[in-house]
Amino acid sequence: MATGGAENAGRVVVVGGGIAGSAIAKRLQTDADVVIIDSKEYLEIPWAEMRSKVEPSFAQRTLIKHTEYLANATVVTSAASSVTEHEVLTKDGQTFPYDYLVIATGHGDSVTVNQKGRLQQFEQDYEKIKASDSILIVGGGPSGVELAGEIAVDFPEKKVTIVHKGSRLIEFVGTKASRKTLDWLVKHKVEVILGQSVDLDSLSESGVYTTSGGEKITADGHFLCVGKPIASSWLQDSILKDCVDKKGHLMVDENLRVKGHKNIFAIGDITDVPEIKQGFLAQKHASVVAKNLKLLIKGAPENKFATHKASPPLAIVSLGRKEGVAQFPFATLIGCFPGLIKSKDLFVGKTRKSLGLDSAS
Ligand SMILES: Cc1cc2nc3c(=O)[nH]c(=O)nc-3n(C[C@H](O)[C@H](O)[C@H](O)COP(=O)(O)OP(=O)(O)OC[C@H]3O[C@@H](n4cnc5c(N)ncnc54)[C@H](O)[C@@H]3O)c2cc1C
Repeated sequence: MATGGAENAGRVVVVGGGIAGSAIAKRLQTDADVVIIDSKEYLEIPWAEMRSKVEPSFAQRTLIKHTEYLANATVVTSAASSVTEHEVLTKDGQTFPYDYLVIATGHGDSVTVNQKGRLQQFEQDYEKIKASDSILIVGGGPSGVELAGEIAVDFPEKKVTIVHKGSRLIEFVGTKASRKTLDWLVKHKVEVILGQSVDLDSLSESGVYTTSGGEKITADGHFLCVGKPIASSWLQDSILKDCVDKKGHLMVDENLRVKGHKNIFAIGDITDVPEIKQGFLAQKHASVVAKNLKLLIKGAPENKFATHKASPPLAIVSLGRKEGVAQFPFATLIGCFPGLIKSKDLFVGKTRKSLGLDSAS
């Protein structure tokens, strides 16, 4: 556990150590007494996950212990279980008092608590891919499509099948991007089955999976890429239970303050800001709230607060090491140009740099 914080400053508790939580803790650690509570001991750069499955050594730069970039904050490895007017409670029975609270629990379900264990998982995934002649990917959202792209490019001899229950791939972007992605995958010999799901309990010893439409798919192994739920269930019996909307998002105002709570903010994917949920926006939220908290701590008037406006659609899904599909506000592009922006290093160097770390190691 790293401990530190500025003397006589406000006590800021950040819950969630993903892209948003890590960014705000880094920005505030010398201006406030910061405690960051995360279910795992490290930040994982989520959009690098699929590359790490085909190249496990890539994961080393993408799993960053919180203590590496937070010399002046207190790092707590535990899951938050509730929040009162004055404290955050954790599953292991600890309580953390706050003057200001920032909720950044994004998406999540079960996690691997230590960095070493996560690295081993990537090794296992790689061995599984290597040992399989045929692979089934369940889910055609960004995770499923990026994994299919990585395998199709690095292991072109493998038979890859995606089964997706929606009527088009990557539904979070426009139809043009979905169509171009489908064409790219088909060109790279990935079979795509839309409008069906897979009952994973149907798996027989012979590796035959049955889809909801009754189709039989033979595969040596599968990856479940169905997307993680919004991680707000821990708030259901807390003072914030009425601030969670039907989709599980926390309702915030333009200053990213949770509605009805003057000293509680939310940032990143957990918020109800009507924009595509993206890490670069989570970082923008962190910057807005860091400014607002610095003002609050100094006692500055609220009319000086920074605001966040929903961003127009902008997202890039990588397709292997050199190509990608991009949804820009003005156009949809596929191929090497989006690939140049994202697919080589997957913004890993840039993210490390934003945390004050060496981008290359
Ligand atoms: C395949 C894929 C590709 C993507 N590509 C891009 C891209 O190219 N560019 C981009 O900008 N964005 C991309 N994104 C989106 C981006 O990953 C998310 O928008 C971003 O991770 C959101 O950050 P966050 O901090 O809000 O949430 P998360 O990254 O989900 O982090 C949440 C953190 O909270 C922790 N947590 C959850 N519950 C609790 C609890 N009860 N107590 C304590 N800790 C808790 C979790 O362990 C985690 O550390 C991609 C996403 C996917 C899936």
